[in-house]
Amino acid sequence: MSGSRVLVAGASIAGPALAHWLRRRGAAVTVVERAPELRPGGQAVDARGVAKEVIRRMGLDAAVRAACTETTGAHTVDADGNVLQTFRADDEGGDGYISEIEILRGDLSRVLHDDTRDGVEYVFGDRIAELTQDADGVDVAFAGGDRRRFDLVIGADGLHSSLRAMVFGPRERFVRHLGHVLAFYSVPNEFGLDRWLIDYQESGSGRSAGLRPIQDATRAMAMFSFPAADFDVDHRDVPAQKQLLRDRMAGLGWSTQRILAHLDDTPDFYLDQVAQVMMDRWSNGRVGLLGDAACSSSPMSGQGTGIALVGAYLLAGELAAAGWDPEAGFAGYEERMRPFVEANQEIGRMNAHSRIPGADADPPPDFESEWFTELLGRAIHGPELPDYAGVPDSGPLTGSPITSPIGP
Ligand SMILES: Cc1cc2nc3c(=O)[nH]c(=O)nc-3n(C[C@H](O)[C@H](O)[C@H](O)COP(=O)(O)OP(=O)(O)OC[C@H]3O[C@@H](n4cnc5c(N)ncnc54)[C@H](O)[C@@H]3O)c2cc1C
Repeated sequence: MSGSRVLVAGASIAGPALAHWLRRRGAAVTVVERAPELRPGGQAVDARGVAKEVIRRMGLDAAVRAACTETTGAHTVDADGNVLQTFRADDEGGDGYISEIEILRGDLSRVLHDDTRDGVEYVFGDRIAELTQDADGVDVAFAGGDRRRFDLVIGADGLHSSLRAMVFGPRERFVRHLGHVLAFYSVPNEFGLDRWLIDYQESGSGRSAGLRPIQDATRAMAMFSFPAADFDVDHRDVPAQKQLLRDRMAGLGWSTQRILAHLDDTPDFYLDQVAQVMMDRWSNGRVGLLGDAACSSSPMSGQGTGIALVGAYLLAGELAAAGWDPEAGFAGYEERMRPFVEANQEIGRMNAHSRIPGADADPPPDFESEWFTELLGRAIHGPELPDYAGVPDSGPLTGSPITSPIGP
């Protein structure tokens, strides 16, 4: 088969990144996004190690760097704002706590969409209502009424993926709550924030509040985290989410109450549980999953975006290299991705666990050990990226290689 007609659900990070690579490999791509337009919001996401190399191969290094938050570093503070610890963005060769490439999730989504909008069909405000697959293709009925046939369908529709529920089973089977909730929204920068992130963690409770600088210096991104044994707020019920945040942040010190006063006038708001997606397989026939929908490692790993970008590169490459045969293409993608995903999920669980009140009674892992060094190397440097020589590639590789001093 030359080329393929591929439907991708979700236009955040994984979806547009996959659209970029599928188009370059010769496929005709449609992306359907449930929201009426690109969704703003979310705090900064990081690109480390192998994800930086994927951005370079996409030819988007300059565009991504131009949209970065330009955070100099982070201070942790006490309730009175006194600095306790300092981390700099150039620590650990730019791959540390504050990474060299930190970009607001909404800005990265916009860069990826701008890059693909001309060669890809985007359909906003719609979603897959039903699909039926046979040996040669997938019949899709859209909620808006359209019916179309595709060769392949990929779910890049996030942690609460509807496509996963439709084809693989209910979310409870795959989503593991890690005991925390995170929230982010932008506020006026009436706090004198410069290029430094400020993070306040209340001792013993697991609650934290912070402010992150963004490109628009008149505003800042507020960040909150609190422990929660379970999570039963609808992920689309924003008023209920805001109320939950108010309740759980009651009495928290530092500038928290002033930041909460902007909950009703913020133009963006994101709150979600910290959770991972654990699946034995990421494909079923002609339907595959990518990014958080397949294998969320949770924001506590700091690598959800990296996994989405690297997965998009490998999924398109493996499918094209297999002549668009779904079985061989999905198998190659999964085999290359698994060790990378598992390392990041392990780190996400360790980080989430260490923030649960009382967890400091457990001995921390030996960060100097060979085991931890190997885990970290695998989580950051990830899988080898084949160059897919001989596979169609309409776009030249641009930019000079991005190198990192941390060895594989
Ligand atoms: C608004 C928003 C804010 C976020 N903020 C943060 C953050 O601050 N920190 C962090 O670590 N991670 C955040 N994330 C998650 C982060 O983007 C992902 O972990 C990572 O980048 C992988 O992205 P993804 O594309 O796989 O999934 P996601 O980024 O979750 O994107 C999924 C996309 O699919 C769309 N969608 C959902 N259901 C359907 C459907 N049925 N049909 C079509 N489209 C559908 C969603 O609207 C969304 O655009 C946020 C995600 C979103 C959507």
